[in-house]
Amino acid sequence: MKLVYSFGNESADGNSQQKKLLGGKGANLAEMTNLNIPVPPGFTITTDVCRYFIDNKQLPDALNNQVSQSINQIEDIMNKQFGNPKNPLLVSIRSGAMISMPGMMETVLNVGLTEETVQGLASSSNNPRFAYDCYRRLIMMYADVVMEKSNNIVNKHKHGIRNKLELHMEKFKKEKKYVKDTDLNESDLKRLCNQFKQIITETFGTSFPDDPNVQLWSSIQAVFKSWNGDRAKKYRKIEGISDRIGTAVNVQSMVFGNMGDGSATGVAFTRNPSTGENIFYGEWLENAQGEDVVAGIRTPNPINNESKSIQSNKLISLEEKYPKLYNQLYQIKNNLELYYKDMQDIEFTIENQNLWMLQTRKGKRNGISAIQIAFDLEKEGIIHETDILNRISSNHLNEIMLPIIDSSEEKTAQIIIRGLPAGPGGATGQIVFTSEKAKKWYEEGKDVILVREETSPEDVHGMYAAKGILTSRGGMTSHAALVARGWGKCCIVGCSDLIINDSNQSMMIDNVTYKEGDWLTLNGSLGTVYNEKLSLVRNDINDNPLFKKIMNLSEKYMDVVVRANADSKKDALNARKMGAKGIGLCRTEHMFFSPDRILSMRKMILSTNLKERENALNELLPYQQKDFYDILKIMNHYPVTIRLLDPPLHEFLPQTKEQVQELSNELNVDVNIINQIIKDLHETNPMLGHRGCRLGITYPEITAMQAQAIFNASKKLINEGLNPCPEIMIPLIGTEKEFVHQKKIIQSVYEKMNFKMEYKIGTMIELPRACLIADKIAHHADFFSFGTNDLTQTTFGYSRDDIGGFIYDYLNQSILPNDPFESIDTDGVGQLIQIAAEKGKAKNIKIGICGEHGGDPKSIQFFHDIKLDYVSCSPFRVPIARLVSAQCNNK
Ligand code: PEP
Ligand code: MG
Repeated sequence: MKLVYSFGNESADGNSQQKKLLGGKGANLAEMTNLNIPVPPGFTITTDVCRYFIDNKQLPDALNNQVSQSINQIEDIMNKQFGNPKNPLLVSIRSGAMISMPGMMETVLNVGLTEETVQGLASSSNNPRFAYDCYRRLIMMYADVVMEKSNNIVNKHKHGIRNKLELHMEKFKKEKKYVKDTDLNESDLKRLCNQFKQIITETFGTSFPDDPNVQLWSSIQAVFKSWNGDRAKKYRKIEGISDRIGTAVNVQSMVFGNMGDGSATGVAFTRNPSTGENIFYGEWLENAQGEDVVAGIRTPNPINNESKSIQSNKLISLEEKYPKLYNQLYQIKNNLELYYKDMQDIEFTIENQNLWMLQTRKGKRNGISAIQIAFDLEKEGIIHETDILNRISSNHLNEIMLPIIDSSEEKTAQIIIRGLPAGPGGATGQIVFTSEKAKKWYEEGKDVILVREETSPEDVHGMYAAKGILTSRGGMTSHAALVARGWGKCCIVGCSDLIINDSNQSMMIDNVTYKEGDWLTLNGSLGTVYNEKLSLVRNDINDNPLFKKIMNLSEKYMDVVVRANADSKKDALNARKMGAKGIGLCRTEHMFFSPDRILSMRKMILSTNLKERENALNELLPYQQKDFYDILKIMNHYPVTIRLLDPPLHEFLPQTKEQVQELSNELNVDVNIINQIIKDLHETNPMLGHRGCRLGITYPEITAMQAQAIFNASKKLINEGLNPCPEIMIPLIGTEKEFVHQKKIIQSVYEKMNFKMEYKIGTMIELPRACLIADKIAHHADFFSFGTNDLTQTTFGYSRDDIGGFIYDYLNQSILPNDPFESIDTDGVGQLIQIAAEKGKAKNIKIGICGEHGGDPKSIQFFHDIKLDYVSCSPFRVPIARLVSAQCNNK
């Protein structure tokens, strides 16, 4: 079995289609090699090996030979030998899963350096300082990744061996009065290497291995093990990535960006990842290696003029310093974009003025840029119109609807510092300086801004919990920027004048101290920070040209119609703005809670006879009529599904003693009588109680009043020349006779009106029994609308209001794949829907859904697949549902 795929010298065993087997990095390194782009030769150990390793706790026997052969190939191409004391080949060992998990797994660089080979490197490179710099980096990385992390050693030193060695180096520099790492000379580095090794032996009781093969194999295993490291597992959970896909391991000849002037390392995006503009955007550092740019340790230089910011204005760009190399890189980025048909995130190294590409991958981007890039690529003829839809996710769309700072408040607010705008939108919250605190405060319901010098993969849980992230170091490709961009989180990086104190308890800007708990507001689109709590607002989405473009395109391809759940004038207007084609659920009970009518409602409930009840209902009628009039008018020509009263009546009665007394005074009814009625209405299981059509059966006059209000409102609109399309929906039907009973009442109200108009009578399907006898109900109904909230409740037998008590245990133990009230349970509830939909379709009636699932992308896909006519969701979810509906049709 082939476990190793080689690449180098313009030919590769693999290609970009093999991401599952070779991981994203490995597949793309192979493809770049095939495209004749300069890539240091190497090989990829497949993800099959990772799974084998996890299951068997050892590597497969066959791997040994295949790795040896591939090392030989690299040696031939590079004309160096692994372990050769005179002319040593060094390799990097990196992870690379099918789905990019930036910084979540481990890397070891400079593998192959020993007491002996370091001298060979010193003489073959003619640069002993460089050789010992590589050696100290290897010792540090190896101790951290292989000796500590992969052995699950929890170091007594609070921050682990890496931090211990770094502090030692800082102390050494201080004693020598050095400022930068580059001030360390050859003999300093030699001494440091020896001291590092001593500290390692003291810490672990074993020494740093002086054998290139031990280094190689232990590093390979450590990278595989890092797939199941804590932060990788946390990240996969947040991102919903399967634990079984595994990582590949890439072993590649080292090229050096730290060989002095003329050597460099850099990261770039083929387009601006914040705005989407078609501008080459990146950062580079001269005389640096590996992760220096991404780690945010030094604020890097801009790659070209366009990448310059206020902070980096004066720094020299690659374009200015090495124009020839820049042009070569520019050409490569063009080729990569054309080949991959998408914006790429690339990493490169320059060794003695030779350019090498180390990585290309689909660039992470925020919502605005994702949308901009997709439309631009189509305009440039690189992708088709239908590809645009599949490149925009519901999260991207959500992001462009993100809140921003209220401009009237922002105008007068004081900017305390500026940084790089790494993640757009506004965020306001209380300062925390550690990820642990961020998570804790988030769980207590607080909004927090996480402030760090720089973030590392260890911080992901805190970053996730924070409303916004602010760092003092790092550039637009730093870890904080990358992760925030991926999540669409507000983020500002590289505020170099922000000083965080050593104990992580306060920070200083312009001599002003800010403590944990102080409020900050971030404008992640401009990179500005304010020292107060500013209000956030959502702008009118229809003013956003990108939003309009996506919605127009979605309209062209969607076939599941999207309606909104709305029960007020305001919601109905909002629903139209968001592009809803009608109302799928107008919950009439919400109308009874307004202060101007709740008293009449309570009067109706407290009535002791029909006459009293009818009088109270007559008081309610004009209010209902006006509400229906407004909504039907806004939705002119579009259907409005009005559901008759659904909740149990006790929900409308007062809760506290004082409120009962107040009601008694207002209605002149004895407190004891009110209390007795409340007691009588009390149900042990109110969700299964006297609600839905059961109310209309006990009190037909309620159904009649609501029907009357709907017909009166429609008649008025028709007389005004409009076209109302009311659909009267009877809730919680479980038997055919219930439906027929209620339908008759509605029809008789209509007939008494003596006025001809179009209307429909249908039902909500919310009970398993209703699904099973749907053909019988369909015989009388004009439409079905699935109330998937109640249908999920009644199918599982889980209370929709109390599932919080156990759902986390179910999810943690994978007993359920997700919360069934969020995403439809296709196996069970979905099957019932399918049965009922088929029975309904056989009678040619219109079928939709109006539970919360109507706004959930995964559920919409299911409703599309079973050919429902429409979904209805809250107005704010309507754009997402429209996009998803178009995507479903395109898959
Ligand atoms: C439902 O049950 O899915 C529904 C939409 O109705 P409600 O949430 O009002 O019970
Ligand atoms: Mg319901």
